[in-house]
Amino acid sequence: MNEVIKVPQFIPSIGVEEYASIKTCFDTTWITEGPQTQKFQEALLEHIGVKYGVFAPNGTLALYLGLCAMGVGPGDEVLVPDFTFIASATAVEMTGATPIFVDVELEHFQIDMDSCKKAVTNKTKAIMPVHIYGMSADMTAVMEFADAHGLLIIEDAAQAIGVKWKNRSCGSVGAVGCFSFFADKTITTGEGGFVVTNDATIYDKLRYLRNQGRLHRGTFIHNRIGYNFRITDIQAAIGLTQLDKLDWICSRKYYFWEQYVERLAGLDLKVTTPPAHSSYVPFRVTFISDLLACDVMAHLAQDGIEARSFFYPLHKQPCFTCKSSEVFNSDHLYKYGVCLPAFPTMTDMQLELVCTSLKEFYA
Ligand SMILES: *Cc1c(COP(=O)(O)O)cnc(C)c1O
Repeated sequence: MNEVIKVPQFIPSIGVEEYASIKTCFDTTWITEGPQTQKFQEALLEHIGVKYGVFAPNGTLALYLGLCAMGVGPGDEVLVPDFTFIASATAVEMTGATPIFVDVELEHFQIDMDSCKKAVTNKTKAIMPVHIYGMSADMTAVMEFADAHGLLIIEDAAQAIGVKWKNRSCGSVGAVGCFSFFADKTITTGEGGFVVTNDATIYDKLRYLRNQGRLHRGTFIHNRIGYNFRITDIQAAIGLTQLDKLDWICSRKYYFWEQYVERLAGLDLKVTTPPAHSSYVPFRVTFISDLLACDVMAHLAQDGIEARSFFYPLHKQPCFTCKSSEVFNSDHLYKYGVCLPAFPTMTDMQLELVCTSLKEFYA
């Protein structure tokens, strides 16, 4: 396809403010973790409503760090939704533990507890609800299940900054919560991740693990085995600016979601709406089509619109040896789910182009 792209899938909202914010790093020549990182950390803890948090170079390593600090390792199994970005599962692999794929429900694509019941064994150590597409998983059900089976909860909140379960921030509910600041996430630092917890013991482990087995820099005595999970003050300066914009970013995404719901009513598709227990930050505006997603996307592409498919089911990924013949809801979602462009700087004219193209397709 060599059409001109008129409506890209996503553009990060970084501009003059972020550019200005990094100047202080250059002026002070402090570019590794320092004062900006400290400020960003405090701002995030306040926003999420948790006691402790540490940065990681990206969301994948945030999950890995969180799992390690929870004591997940070889011989353990972790329940991971079949419908998520691959990193939820590969972070488990990195620890030497085994991800066990469980299904998601069809309406909000969140972890399905009936499927968890079938998958849990005496090796299961943790469960990873992934708050997918800016909606919260049903944490009441997840906590009940985790309690009943003695499991630790690690929340993959990579797509859920700003999202609330009831009145609590996603990521603040389990033993550990993980965020990503990749370029296409709700707020971005280019690359970046954050691990939060309210547990002082886990926090202690996180600090040793991320800082070469010591609590403070400047000493060459290392009490434990640890690694380097630092970020830079340049990223943190950008992150602080992004966090200031979060409300605006969320309101813009929400506006486009409302517009899509209204304008696409009556077509043979269902725009996703959030569950009652969750607030909504349309990380992606998604819909389930009556017709094949690949055909919808091909039509949109002809009109210069970049739609994106849903996640390919993890149990079918060539990289995983675990194969299953069970029919997962995630198979259905991959076939019929579409992500529409909905980014803060999108224009009403671009919105109109997408809606017109979809109306033509479904006519
Ligand atoms: C983006 C993402 C990750 C990984 O984050 P990176 O910063 O890209 O490593 C993990 N889980 C989910 C659900 C994500 O969307």
